[in-house]
Amino acid sequence: MLNQKGNSLVFILILVGFLALLLTTFNLKPPLPAHSSLQKTAELNQTQDPDDINEDELSMYQIPNDVLAALNQSNTEDSSVLGIKSDGPTYHIPILMYHYIEHVQNPQDKVRISLNILPETFDKQLETLIKAGYNFITASDLADILDGIKQPPPNPVMLTFDDGYRDFYTDAFPILKKYNVKAVNYVISGFLNQPNHLTDPQLKEIAQSGLVEIGAHTVHHVALRGRSTTQVETEVGQSKIQLEQKIGSAVTAFAYPYGSLDIHALRIVKESGFRTAVSTIPGSHVSNSVRYLTYRLRPGARTGQSLLNLISN
Ligand SMILES: [Zn+2]
Repeated sequence: MLNQKGNSLVFILILVGFLALLLTTFNLKPPLPAHSSLQKTAELNQTQDPDDINEDELSMYQIPNDVLAALNQSNTEDSSVLGIKSDGPTYHIPILMYHYIEHVQNPQDKVRISLNILPETFDKQLETLIKAGYNFITASDLADILDGIKQPPPNPVMLTFDDGYRDFYTDAFPILKKYNVKAVNYVISGFLNQPNHLTDPQLKEIAQSGLVEIGAHTVHHVALRGRSTTQVETEVGQSKIQLEQKIGSAVTAFAYPYGSLDIHALRIVKESGFRTAVSTIPGSHVSNSVRYLTYRLRPGARTGQSLLNLISN
C-alpha cells in the first residue's frame, strides 16, 4: 500500500513538473479578457499601467457614413431613430471630455500621461468657466433641454468623465465639490472594484452627492461598431441594469467606448432606454438629431482665455 501511494505521489509530482515546464517553455498564459486595446498596450509597454485604455488611439473623429446617410434623409427608419422628424432647435452646449485627473505616479506611463489633466489644472479650468459665467449641466438636463422640458441656462457647459477611474473619486470629485460643479461620469460597469477603477461604495457616494450623474460605458469597454446585435444589446443593456442596481436610480446617459458607433449601435442605445449618448466627434452644437452621438471637446491643459476660445466656437 505504502509503495503504491509513494508511486502515485512521484507520478503526480512528475506530471506537475512537466506541466510547469510546458507552460514556461511555450510562454502560455491564461487568456486575457476581450479587450484588444488594453491587451495590446499592455503587451507593448510593460511599464504602463494595464488599466489604461488608450481611447484616443482608436477614437472616431467623424460621423460614420451610415449615420451620416441617415442624418441626410428625413423619411427613413434610421432617420427616425435619430429623431430627425422631431428635430428642434440647435444649441451651443460644449461638452468637455476628461479621463484621468491626478498626478501620474509612473513617468513611463505615456498613455496615462497623455489622457491626464493635473488636478491643479482642472481646478483652474473650473475657475475659468465659473468666472466666465458658464453654468454646468448634466446629461439629464441636456435630455430635458432637447425634449423641450427645460430651457438651457445661460452659457451651458457639460463636464464628462469616461471609464469610472478611481482618481475621479480621489482627485476630481473634491474639486467638483469645492466649486459645487456638476458633471457626468460614464462608468464601465464590469470594471468596478478593479484596481484603478471606482469601488461600489465610491460609486454610490458620488451618485448620491447630487453633483455627479452616472452614465453607462458598456460592461467591458467594447468598441460597438460592427458588433452583433446580441453583443451590443448585452454590453449596452447590461451596463445600464448593473449600474442602476448599484446606485438605486435610473441611468439614462451613455458614452460609446472609443467613440465607436454605427447606426445599429445607435438604435440599440436608444431602444435600451438611454436619453442621450456622447461620442468623441469634435464639436459643440447639440440638436435632437444628434442626441445619440453628441459631440465633445478635449480641453487638454487649456486654462483661461485659451479654454474659453476652444469652447466658444
Ligand atoms: Zn472609455
